[in-house]
Amino acid sequence: MALIDCPACGKRISDKAKSCSHCKVVLDGNSEQIESAQRIASINRKTQLMNHSFLALLAFVGGFALWFWGGEQAENWRKPAGIGLMAVGFVGYLVTRVRIALNKRG
Ligand SMILES: [Zn+2]
Repeated sequence: MALIDCPACGKRISDKAKSCSHCKVVLDGNSEQIESAQRIASINRKTQLMNHSFLALLAFVGGFALWFWGGEQAENWRKPAGIGLMAVGFVGYLVTRVRIALNKRG
């Protein structure tokens, strides 16, 4: 028994399997079905990445709001919490942008 990459979702499956155990695509050589499963998988990946970048942006804006709530810089716990949230959001956003670029390239 050898392991192959599922043509639709790219996960490792047995070459004897009749269908992928991860995405349920039927591996009977029906290329139309595999193509449509590939399309769906790619749309799901894109949607997930868009959600991640949105969440990262939200964390960044939320951290900023927390830090500067009321128009002046916070000096209590809100300052480190706000800076931390902004840093997480910023890094998360950058990472997601890179992942989107890699995803586009294939
Ligand atoms: Zn699969």
